Amino acid sequence: MPELLQIRRLAGDPEEGDAPAGIEISPDFREFREADSVEKMVRLAQEVLADPTFPTVRAWRKAGGKAVGCFPVYTPQEIVHSFGMLPVAMQGGGENLEISRADAALGSFLCSISKSTLEMALTGLLDPFDAFVFPYICDVSRNLDGIFARVVPQRPSHMLHLPQNFTSPATIPFLVSEYRRLIEKLERVAGRPFSQEDLRASLELFNRQRELVDRLATMKRDSPGKLSLVEYYLLLRLGGLLPREVHIPLLERALTELEGRERKNKDAIRVIVIGPFCEQPTLELLQLVEDVGCYVVGEEFQMVHRWCSSIAPGADPLESLATAYVRTPVDIGVRSTPTTKGAAVLARVDASKAQGVLFLTAKFCEPALEDVVLYRRALERRGLPYLHMEFEEKSTTYEQARLQLETFVESILFN
Ligand code: SF4
Repeated sequence: MPELLQIRRLAGDPEEGDAPAGIEISPDFREFREADSVEKMVRLAQEVLADPTFPTVRAWRKAGGKAVGCFPVYTPQEIVHSFGMLPVAMQGGGENLEISRADAALGSFLCSISKSTLEMALTGLLDPFDAFVFPYICDVSRNLDGIFARVVPQRPSHMLHLPQNFTSPATIPFLVSEYRRLIEKLERVAGRPFSQEDLRASLELFNRQRELVDRLATMKRDSPGKLSLVEYYLLLRLGGLLPREVHIPLLERALTELEGRERKNKDAIRVIVIGPFCEQPTLELLQLVEDVGCYVVGEEFQMVHRWCSSIAPGADPLESLATAYVRTPVDIGVRSTPTTKGAAVLARVDASKAQGVLFLTAKFCEPALEDVVLYRRALERRGLPYLHMEFEEKSTTYEQARLQLETFVESILFN
């Protein structure tokens, strides 16, 4: 693709270190450590997400740390953490990022996260990062790795191959060897050798985060009125942007407050949301889903924390990590398990007592769209209602979405 060779910073583009000024966070993340109410945590999260200059990464760097951008979903963030570096979930530029360069470099029919991620690389917004990891979840993520190698050659970029054969005896050894290839690069970035002991400690820390995330998701499923969908989402989203050592106590405080909250459930229908496992919908769209009368009691947001349950470090923590990926029962669009997709969606509907399914897929996300076909067949066989809507990072009008959602809710309520 020769045109890719032409992607460079242009005269007049921001030079390295010239990214636009954003909000400032203390290097010790005091604002988050001292946030003593869900309201304050959510406000901080909104400010961070509205700022495309990665304020939490800049704060980490001010304290002398190194950071690695981790594309969704299966970047082994525990390995990055075990080197003392900050693993940061790169989940697109959000609605405040103007796309001016990436549109010219990428085809029109690609998801927004690919364009906003490239735009951020081209305009200096990713300068606070020391390296990038792109797991091979789709052709788009694979190509981003190659593009990054040209656009930001001074920062290592790595494509992590992921097996899609989950039954072969060669699968786990293959993935371990892929992790070792990544480790070789991370050792150079971190300037220190890999340590099994450090990885064990990181796995334990991430297990604690997963446990808390799971508690929050269970609360949203069982008592959906206790917290809004936007509150729920933002508390999870912070988990990929803050040091885990800051996010874990923050979630503990949030859970304590939420468990004591007295809020009655509204008269709303229970739905599960399938599809946004990589690119993320806007907060307005999430708000709209709840405003029209849906309680989201199961979803695929922030799968970076949820692609498996606990990982026991074991004697060989790399093998444990690889085994967790291969054996996880968590089924999302970027896992090739076509024969079990139908049963998986029905099991999720049953577990959450959902009355319908909302497919919320990123525009042009092929993995998500392919699965919708399989899921729909299973839902139709059972007579379960569903609605399919597409989103982009920079959606501006929601009138059509509102109409579709209201019709969906009414069709269930008055059926
Ligand atoms: S949104 Fe879909 S197509 Fe785009 S990078 Fe993510 S998984 Fe790939």
